[in-house]
Amino acid sequence: PADVKTLGRHTWTLLHTMAAYYPEKPEPKQKESMKSFFQSFSENYPCWFCKNDFQKDMAENPINVASREALSEWLCKRHNKVNEKLGKKQFDCTKVFERWLTGPPN
Ligand code: FAD
Repeated sequence: PADVKTLGRHTWTLLHTMAAYYPEKPEPKQKESMKSFFQSFSENYPCWFCKNDFQKDMAENPINVASREALSEWLCKRHNKVNEKLGKKQFDCTKVFERWLTGPPN
């Protein structure tokens, strides 16, 4: 794609926000829906080398849709894997809700 970085930045915004707003106690249907979203996402993300590595990573580290917290942590780790690959610094996953849900404390 023309701009892997812009695409990535905006995609992470969508994915982390989806995880942050996922229910704390999801219904079975919501779990299935989130699982199939990520499955489909990993097959259709329009950056082929990103997609291939993400699919491998998802195969080794299956998605956890048990709760908002579990999903957000899983996604944070997947993003950190990409950060590592790109030589970016690791994000502190205890800060994931501060970044993507509540904003920084006053
Ligand atoms: P980004 O990595 O886009 O992060 C955006 C913001 O998210 C950061 O500013 C920070 O506030 C927050 N953040 C950072 N890490 C985490 C975390 N672990 N958890 C929660 N929040 C976090 N690019 C490539 O060149 N090669 C690839 O193989 C590749 N694979 C990708 C796979 C996927 C599934 C996606 C969505 C993107 C991929 N990208 C890849 C793009 C890459 O991850 C970045 O989006 C891009 O390089 C722009 O980086 P950035 O520095 O703006 O921050």
